[in-house]
Parts: sequence; structure tokens; C-alpha cells
Amino acid sequence: MSRVFNFSAGPAMLPTEVIVQAQQEILDWHGSGMSVMEMSHRGKEFMQIAATAEQDLRELLAIPDNYKVLFLQGGASTQFAMVPLNLMGENGKADYANTGAWSKKAISEGKLFGSVNICASSEADGFNSVPDYADWKLSSDAAYVHITPNETIGGVEYDGLPDTGSVPLVADMSSTLLSRPLDVSRYGVIYAGAQKNIGPAGLTIVIIRDDLIGKAAKGCPSMLDYATHSSADSMANTPPTYSWYLAGLVFQFLKQKGGLKAMAEINQRKAAKLYATIDGNAFYSNPVAIANRSWMNVPFILKNADLDAAFLAGAKERGLTTLKGHRSVGGMRASIYNAMPEEGVDTLIQYMNDFAANNA
Ligand SMILES: *Cc1c(COP(=O)(O)O)cnc(C)c1O
Repeated sequence: MSRVFNFSAGPAMLPTEVIVQAQQEILDWHGSGMSVMEMSHRGKEFMQIAATAEQDLRELLAIPDNYKVLFLQGGASTQFAMVPLNLMGENGKADYANTGAWSKKAISEGKLFGSVNICASSEADGFNSVPDYADWKLSSDAAYVHITPNETIGGVEYDGLPDTGSVPLVADMSSTLLSRPLDVSRYGVIYAGAQKNIGPAGLTIVIIRDDLIGKAAKGCPSMLDYATHSSADSMANTPPTYSWYLAGLVFQFLKQKGGLKAMAEINQRKAAKLYATIDGNAFYSNPVAIANRSWMNVPFILKNADLDAAFLAGAKERGLTTLKGHRSVGGMRASIYNAMPEEGVDTLIQYMNDFAANNA
């Protein structure tokens, strides 16, 4: 058996230790005689798994008591609709920052439900930075301000946060949640699809301040109403039980590794050395403003795009996979979430240096 260093943006690598633990427990979870996959979501075994996972996530992120944590389905993309359906209110107006491909999707979905004001945009500069917060045109009557703190495709990440006063910040953190400590109290809603930095696909985490629950628009389908899921502890219908369990194993793993402060140190180090390699060799480049370079998704292009196929083929021979950049950006992208070992980044750097030397 051999495991590759998989640089996929998502679904992405999971910690090997977590997969091995799942393997050990797969037929008989803790003497229950059942796989977690076979358990009733209302049985005492799964209720315990679910509650422990939530507790561990609350500890990792120091989530205040006035926030609910929901374990949903539908991916981050369904949140693009649930957020406006639940929060836009009578005013029907929200501010959105346009910083890349995922923001654009959130914006076009938001427009289905009300009036969307683009409060900031980096589209004119090719989505290579986050607009200066001083220049944001926030509306005083917006129901919320939607941001994408880490643009997974462009590799653009917020440096700090805009001051939105009493208007709640809503953040799509699909590719950055759990990469470092976070002040949850700065946000009204945080949501994330699990398949990047949390667990397997099929699970969506929503962290929501409790005063924002119960305000859904008239006619909102009940399964898209945060109140439905909040009052049923995410068991209004069958939740994604196995993904929830695996995310719980990831949370335990992160706690054992020292929590999010320890993750932040490692993640920053991994990203810094990869960017240093890109900047230090004229063969490679990354267009993103230094302050906005993502710790999690590192796009880079080769000086000569004709060498892309050879670069990818050679990488694969060294066990470095899924480095092809998103089709909208081209070039390469290395996604280096928590589960990417530092050794994977070191191996990639060695390969990049060798490839540049051999093709100079
Ligand atoms: C992957 C991703 C999404 C889409 O997530 P799904 O779970 O596939 O719907 C949305 N936003 C960001 C920032 C992402 O990285």
C-alpha cells in the first residue's frame, strides 16, 4: 500500500491516522456490533458520536454559547441560498464582497432572493487581492455582509476583517475553517463544506449566532430554514451520519495535535516555504498580493505553459498528485490543508526545484 501526497482542493486528504481509526472501527463501533453507517441517527450510540463531535468542534474554535452549530447536507452551495432565505429579512438587501469565483457564485444565488450590493470587488485586478477595507461601500441598511475569507480557486485570503459595525458578517469558510484559531464572535454566520479541511464530502457545518435563527422568509422550505435544524439538533431528517462521525474523528485528531494554534504554526510554515520557492525561482510565479496569499490553496504558474503536462507527469511519478490548477486559472494549484503532511510540501518543493533546474 502506498499513499500519495494529494494536493486536491476538495475532496482533499484526510489524516491517515483518522482513516486508520475509521478502518479499525468500521465493522463494530465500540462494541455496538454495528458500523456507524448502520446506526440509527436517533440511537444512543450515534447521539453520543454526534454530541462529542459538536463538543470537540466547540472546544477547537472556542465557539461562544450563543452560537448554534449545525451539521447539514447540501454543501456550501446550498448555503448560498439558505443565507439570503434566512437572513435577508423584510428589507431584502445584503452586501457582498466580490473576491473570486466562489464569491461570484454566492452573489448570483443571493440575487435570486433580493437586492445584492457589491460592497467591494477585486474583479478589475483579476481577483488577485482583497480590496482595502477603507474603500468598501457598505450599506447601512444591509441585513448582512457576505465574505469569502479564502477563495479556494484564486488562492486569495483575507488579511483581517472589514468593520461592519452591527451588521452581521456571513463568511463562507469552506477552505479555511480549522486552519487556525478564529474569533467566532466577529461573525453572524460561518459556513463550510466539510470536504476541504474538515472531513469527507456530504457534511456542511454552519455556525450561527442564535438571534439570527427563526427569521426565514415567508414560504421558505422547512428544510432550508435554520430554525428547523437548530430546534432538532440537526436531526430534523437523517443527517450525514458517517461524515459527521469522521469529522468528529478529525476534531479529536486536531485536539491531540495541540489544537488550532498548533495547526496555524504548521500551516503558516508550510505555506511560507512553498511561496518562498515560487518567489525564489523565476521559473515559477504567483500573482496574488503578498498580504492576501492563501495558506491553504497555493496557485502557481510555470514560466512556460507548454511544460505544464510534463510538470504534472513528473510530479505524479514522485507521488504528488492533483496539482493541476483550476480550469479558470490554469497552471498549478497545491492545496495544503491540515491533513497535508509537511513532508508532502517538502517533497513538492524538492520536485519544483529539480524540475526548474532540468528545464531552465
Ligand atoms: C468548495 C467550495 C464551495 C462549494 O462547496 P460545495 O460543498 O461543493 O457546495 C463553496 N465555497 C468555497 C469557498 C469552496 O471552497
